[in-house]
Amino acid sequence: MEKIALFPGSFDPFTIGHQSIVNRSLPLFDKIIIAVGFNTQKKALLNLDNRLTLISDVFAGNPKIEVKHYQGLTIDYCSKVNASYLLRGLRTAADFEYERAIGQMNKAMNPTIETVFLLTSPEYTFVNSTIVRDILFFGGDASKFLPVGVDIKKYLS
Ligand code: ADP
Repeated sequence: MEKIALFPGSFDPFTIGHQSIVNRSLPLFDKIIIAVGFNTQKKALLNLDNRLTLISDVFAGNPKIEVKHYQGLTIDYCSKVNASYLLRGLRTAADFEYERAIGQMNKAMNPTIETVFLLTSPEYTFVNSTIVRDILFFGGDASKFLPVGVDIKKYLS
């Protein structure tokens, strides 16, 4: 059976930290679906189309990666796309507590889906979409926190 992982997030924007998690998990799965979800608690900087385009541009030509979007429960979307694994990154103890609760709730709702956590590479521990968003909002240069080659101006509309 094909090993499909779903990497869900707001990705507003997709950072070098997210890219590192995807690249490091490539050997573990046959296919990784990067799924841009609708987060009820976050105000968006990039619109959905631009977020999807940015991520697709970063992984252009990689046949193991698909970029999609969804609404609703992540666990339901996993079933819809036949993903048996949910991929998440862990930076801090705060991430752990948040992810533990969600992971265990998801497991209770659908025991067939395993959440897989990768610890962040130390150099990306502080890279955080919320702060990158603030830098961009105030016209700062966030390029060193974005995947190499991403010109964020192209995706801000
Ligand atoms: P969400 O809105 O669901 O928190 P994010 O876009 O912020 O989505 O993040 C998606 C996933 O990527 C989460 O598992 C998050 O912990 C992880 N992540 C975000 N930034 C980093 C980073 N710098 N290093 C490792 N994992 C990260």
